Amino acid sequence: MDLHEHKQTHTKMNSWWLNDAKGIPLSRVCDDCIEAVKKTYRPEVLGECGRYEDVVEEQIEPDDHGGQSYYDSGYDY
Ligand SMILES: [Zn+2]
Repeated sequence: MDLHEHKQTHTKMNSWWLNDAKGIPLSRVCDDCIEAVKKTYRPEVLGECGRYEDVVEEQIEPDDHGGQSYYDSGYDY
């Protein structure tokens, strides 16, 4: 199966997004090609085994900045 060509046949009705372990969309898949598409990704990326962090280098900054709202409390009396 030529995956690239096959994917042109996907529509909203017959396919859906395959997500990685973090819920990031990887590719449109359908029943016919999901197994073939999964083989192009590491099982760690799909969350099927191992650790996602071991195979994905991309650094995602934790969004814990700007959460300092303590100024809002205790100033009203
Ligand atoms: Zn397909």
